Formats: sequence, structure tokens, C-alpha cells
Amino acid sequence: MATTVTERKAFVAGEWIETGEWIDVSSPYSGEIVGRIAKAGADEARRAIDAAAQAMCEPLPAHQRAEILVKVAAQLGRRHDEVARLISDEAGKPMKAARVEARRAMSTYTFAAVEARKLAGEVVPMDASQAGEGKFAFTLRMPIGVVGAISPFNFPLNLVAHKIAPALAAGCAVVLKPASATPLSALLLAEMEEEAGLPPGWLSVLAGSASEIGDVLVEDERVTAITFTGSGDVGWGLRERAAHKRVSLELGNATPVIVCDDAPDGAATKLAANSFSFAGQSCISVQRIYVLAPAWDSFVTEFVPLVEALRVGDPAEEETDVGPLIDEDARERVLEWIAETTGEVLAGGDTTTEGLLRPTVIANPSSDDKVSCDEVFGPVVTLTKVESLDEAIELANSTRFGLQAGIFTADIRCALRAARELEFGGVTVNEAPTFRADQMPYGGVKASGNTREGPAYAVRELTEERLVVVEL
Ligand code: NAP
Repeated sequence: MATTVTERKAFVAGEWIETGEWIDVSSPYSGEIVGRIAKAGADEARRAIDAAAQAMCEPLPAHQRAEILVKVAAQLGRRHDEVARLISDEAGKPMKAARVEARRAMSTYTFAAVEARKLAGEVVPMDASQAGEGKFAFTLRMPIGVVGAISPFNFPLNLVAHKIAPALAAGCAVVLKPASATPLSALLLAEMEEEAGLPPGWLSVLAGSASEIGDVLVEDERVTAITFTGSGDVGWGLRERAAHKRVSLELGNATPVIVCDDAPDGAATKLAANSFSFAGQSCISVQRIYVLAPAWDSFVTEFVPLVEALRVGDPAEEETDVGPLIDEDARERVLEWIAETTGEVLAGGDTTTEGLLRPTVIANPSSDDKVSCDEVFGPVVTLTKVESLDEAIELANSTRFGLQAGIFTADIRCALRAARELEFGGVTVNEAPTFRADQMPYGGVKASGNTREGPAYAVRELTEERLVVVEL
């Protein structure tokens, strides 16, 4: 059962304000209210942008930005239990996964602090051309300007950290809109940044009407970059409307992985765990497993019992592996996709007495089934028998998505071939493609996005290179 009830005002221009309207935040597991937040809208968004633009008129030196980031990392460590519990309460994320997320957010802040201290341009070798003789040139990395950040529900802490920590490292002020279902962790981070000494205006956190706040972020010319993580329709729509801004998109996937007949031991265990963590509500949750024919029988025999052994239940309990989906609409949609599939349901496919969707394994669905070509974002994995690595790669590449993919094999040639031919932003070898460490360059190609996150890469996106040429 959820135990925490949190009340938070909106954090605008360095002040915690009431807005006259409140939104309840409820547990996706029990439906009980776990928090109440002040609902922000267009007025608060404008005020936040005014304050952000004002704040950036007095840049914070890199050492000060780094110190703030390090202090937030330390607070995340000190308040680990509270942070993990809050993630679990508002997102319905099992404590096991919520603890991992809370620790990863520390890592994100720590790496962002390193980037703040390293931020520098480079010397241009001017005498490499006749035109440059007698001149000295170098670049400065300048903050891009006020950043509008929009984050999804599924990693309510660490994906907010991936927005606001690199922005501060880059010297940018941020106006953040967290997901309405899970705003509490973002507001807690704002509290930590304030306590760490962030001056007013550098961060505002506005939970409320997505279109109202989104429209202000798109229309205000002082917002020069929008960094968005969420679904493709919203993300690409924002990019179209914000033609003059830098718009960085981290979007969905229908994550494939190939299991070769020489796959090392442990593939089934890794894949069973990574298909169902947070009930599949991760953009890189394993969704499509392509198994080479000689390995099919042994893989299925090992994999299905592992899935059936996962503990489904209350996310507040430390032993739970799989909790609820974010809301009833999501559950009904996934149940419909399961009902529509032409494949054979080998496990799950139904709900528990508490209404939780059981981890579901579908064998050999048609490649046109939604579970094969769209992002399920639920506890469903498909197993497909294939005759060759060629076929597996072709099927893995057959959707519009391209975030991460994986292969399990003992043959370095197959691994390297997959790395070259899988059309994804990242390829894992002998690890589930759900793997992410926060310093990695992480992001997609095709419909999955147009950028890379990880503090070093996000800082690059949030700074402009300014050339300085000096006549000697
Ligand atoms: P979503 O519905 O697109 O929402 C994401 C954010 O966009 C929320 O804050 C939402 O606000 C906001 N939003 C919605 N409509 C908007 C508009 N018109 N203007 C501005 N903002 C708007 O996505 P989600 O359901 O939260 O997250 C799931 C999706 O995110 C999946 O597709 C998943 O794969 C993807 N994802 C990708 C990554 C990655 O790194 N590539 C990581 C995690 C998740 P409200 O909540 O108020 O509607």
C-alpha cells in the first residue's frame, strides 16, 4: 500500500506558489491519493520564462554550477528511501526498480557536475590554411539559452534529472513540465536544487495542462531549445511547431533482441527480467525476441518458467517484480492488443485478482500484429522462431523504431555484423537492450528520436559553439 501523501506548490521563479487549482496524484496500484499539487498553466509558464531569461543575464560560474549538482547528488543519496518510495507511490513502480532509478539519478547528477567543470571549446589550427596564417582562433561553448523541458511518467526522477542536470551544467536555465501522472519526484528535485543553493529563476517546475504550458514553451522566442522525452506523436508535433528552436527528441521503441544458437548461458534470465521490469513501461523494455531455430526449444523451455516465476503485486513491497500499468486505459489497450494477436499465448494474457496484467509471452505472432510492430509499453514479450541471422536482423529492423536492440551470441563476427546492420541508436551484445548507464550516449534513429542524452551529450546539445578569431 502507498504510505506517503505529499502536497506541493508549483516552483516558479524560485518561489513555491499556489495557483488556485489543485491536481490530485493517485497511486496506479491502489487508486488512493498519494499527493496534491498546484496546477500551473500559461501564466505560470510565462512568469517562469521571464525569470529564466533574467537569471541567465548573470551567468553562474562553472564551479558553482558543479557544486550545486554535486550537492543534489549527495541529497539523493541521503534521502534514498524517501525518493524511491515517492517514485513507487506516484508511478506504481516496484520498489526494486524505484531504488535503481533513485541511484541512477545520483549518477546523472554526478556526471553532469563533471561536465560543468569540463565545459570548454577548442583551439582551431589556423595556420593549417593560407587564409588562416597570422591569426589565432578558438571556440567558446555558450549556453544555448532558456531550455523548455518536457518529461514522461515512466522515469519520473531520473529522466527529469537527465533534463535539468545537464542544462545547469551547460549554464542554461530550465522551465520543466513533468508528466501530470507523476509530478511529485520532479518537484522534490526542485526542492533539492533550491536547498543546494540554486539561485531563483534557474529552474521552474510546472505541472499542469500540457497543451497550455507546451504552447507557451513553443511560442516564446526566449526558449531556444526544447528537450522532450515521451511519445512520438507529441514529440514530432512539437518539433514541427518549433521550427526555429533546437528540439531534442527521445521517443519510443519496440525493442528487439536476437538470440543465436550459440548464445551464452544466462540470456533467458536477463531477458525475462528485462521484458517486465516496471511492467514493460520503459522505452527499451525487451518486446520482440527472435530466436534462431536450433535454440528455440531450449530457450522457450527456460524462458517461460522464469517469466511465470516473476512476482506480480503491490509495488510498495520490496519483493515485487511486476506492478500495475500507469492507468486503466493503458491496461485495457494492452489487453486488446493481446486479444488481437495471431500468436500463441504461452504465459499470462490475463489479469490477477487485483486487476494487474500478468507478464505475457506470445509465440510467433504475425509481423503485422500490433504486438510485433507498435510499442506495447506493457508486460508483453513476443518470441519468434527464425531460420537465420539475416531473417532476424531484417525482422528487428522492420518497425519504424530505432532506439536500442541487442544480440546474444558467442561469435564475435555475428555480434559485429549485428552492430553494423541493426538500425538503432545502440546495440547491446550479450546484455539485454534494456541496459542503460547514465553516462552512455543514449538516443534513437528513425521514429525513435533525433538526439543523444547522457550528460556529456546533452551538454553538447544545449550549448552553441562560438568562434573567436584574433588577428596577431
Ligand atoms: P507522452 O504522453 O508523450 O507525455 C510525455 C510528456 O509530454 C508529458 O509531460 C505530457 O504531459 C507532455 N505532453 C503531452 N501533450 C503535450 C503537448 N501537446 N505539448 C507539450 N507537452 C505535451 O508520453 P508518456 O506516456 O508520458 O511516456 C511514454 C512514452 O515515452 C513512450 O513512448 C516511451 O517509449 C517514451 N519514452 C522514451 C524515452 C527515451 O529516452 N527515448 C524514455 C522514456 C519514455 P501530460 O502528462 O500532462 O499529458
